[in-house]
Amino acid sequence: MTDQSTGRRDELGDHLSQVRRRIEAACGRADRDPAELTLVVVTKFFPASDVALLADLGVRDIGENRDQEAGEKVADLPDGIRERLRVHFIGQLQSNKAGHVARYADVVQSVDRPKIVHALQRGADAAGRTIDALVQVDLSGDDAGRGGVAPAALDDLVAAFADAPALRLRGVMAVAPLHGDPLHAFTRLRELSAQVRMTSADALWISAGMSGDLEQAIQCGATHLRVGSAILGSRPAQR
Ligand SMILES: *Cc1c(COP(=O)(O)O)cnc(C)c1O
Repeated sequence: MTDQSTGRRDELGDHLSQVRRRIEAACGRADRDPAELTLVVVTKFFPASDVALLADLGVRDIGENRDQEAGEKVADLPDGIRERLRVHFIGQLQSNKAGHVARYADVVQSVDRPKIVHALQRGADAAGRTIDALVQVDLSGDDAGRGGVAPAALDDLVAAFADAPALRLRGVMAVAPLHGDPLHAFTRLRELSAQVRMTSADALWISAGMSGDLEQAIQCGATHLRVGSAILGSRPAQR
């Protein structure tokens, strides 16, 4: 290993321990078992070499939000690393990109309209794969363009999975609105999760919580956290 990658490995390892300590403390306060939580490390903007270091540090789940960047990065991983990782796609999806995402993503967390369900189904079927899917809910109430289905359209979106045997609906995902109390948003998400489970009993995952609000997400029953900057650092300068 070069000195440079040793330095980066130490840095990522330190940040990872800090985040794990935050998770443990929040679980202690919420009387939850940290083993119930999956930490998805969001590696967008950062190179495949960081993903490999994270895998070496025990990370099993990574998140990416842009199709082209994600597809290339997954392809660039050293031998033996890809099989150890679950790749979560967490970005806004266009239906013409969904077929490609279905080739490499193990989980797609950002399904927000029936058209995406159909496109992922076709892509997964063509690739002979089964994909875990979450429906992303818009909790902003103002359609600010961060993606997600309006709560009023959630039942119709869930119903679209009936025709998608290559997709397993596993639960719900949301990003807390920029302004406002994350506790309020994640409480609403928990209610919507219960609504989805009335028709899809296996949809138990709740993906909520990022670097700034993972404590509130844990308090509200999150099963998956998506943490980027607290582990990788702030976004590197454009190359
Ligand atoms: C970037 C991103 C994250 C991670 O955010 P941080 O604040 O860097 O932890 C989580 N979820 C989604 C959907 C993202 O795009």
